[in-house]
Amino acid sequence: MARNVFDYIIEEKLPFFWCEGCGNGIILKTIAKVFADLNLDPREIVVVTGIGCWGKADDYLSVNSLHVTHGRALPAATGVKLVNPNLKVLALMGDGDGLTIGGNHFIHAARRNIDITAIISNNFNYGMTGGQVSGTTPEKSITSTSRFGSVEPPFDVVNLAIAAGASYVARATVYHVNLLEKYIKNAIMKKGFSVVDVINVCPTYFGRLNKLKTSVEMMEFLRDNSTFNKNEGDINSNKFALGEFVNIEKPDFSTKYLEVQKQAKEKIFSLEQDSGAR
Ligand code: SF4
Repeated sequence: MARNVFDYIIEEKLPFFWCEGCGNGIILKTIAKVFADLNLDPREIVVVTGIGCWGKADDYLSVNSLHVTHGRALPAATGVKLVNPNLKVLALMGDGDGLTIGGNHFIHAARRNIDITAIISNNFNYGMTGGQVSGTTPEKSITSTSRFGSVEPPFDVVNLAIAAGASYVARATVYHVNLLEKYIKNAIMKKGFSVVDVINVCPTYFGRLNKLKTSVEMMEFLRDNSTFNKNEGDINSNKFALGEFVNIEKPDFSTKYLEVQKQAKEKIFSLEQDSGAR
């Protein structure tokens, strides 16, 4: 049976809670479209969210969901995946939630290569709590806690995920929706830790404070500052390199862990056989 986006989105919950012009709705609709295109059974999908504007995403999805504490989506998602490796598990995290408060969990999920898809709504600030500086805020950007420009170098989510060992790493923006859809689809189909860094717009805080007053201006900014030349990208200079950066096959954590469980069971069985024979 073919499915459509409204098999995954709860219509009665619309309109979204997000501000007018926020890019989160674009990401959510794209995720639902990918679920439909892949004809995934909603009962076999688990979406885990943390805290923040993007952390509200699970409110609108008619799939299994877990809404957890700030920065802790990945440990909760890891638990779900280990209990039932057959589930499609997605961690939906903002840059403040997933890369700043939850940065430690992010690098270890990538290192372990856990079969989870992390979709980062990266709008360079903590939107829900008032637009504070986050771990991905480009240097010199104005936020509510860096009124004269951030002095901190930001994480480049793509480089961080690659260095930590993810199996699939891609970046798109909410302006490049077709690309976003393709990367989310590839990430969900990938066995292993997959990351899609989605450069997003937060017109209410980041845009307003950085002379991009409307969502349209922010979208034009993403259009004009994106490149498909990976060598030209530099988050600090607001030059966003888009594309697939890693797409490799390697054993994921659950597969290796199940093998250890099998060996342990066989060992216990042989010890019981030995003691029974004595
Ligand atoms: S504060 Fe920013 S991120 Fe949050 S809903 Fe509004 S525009 Fe979106």
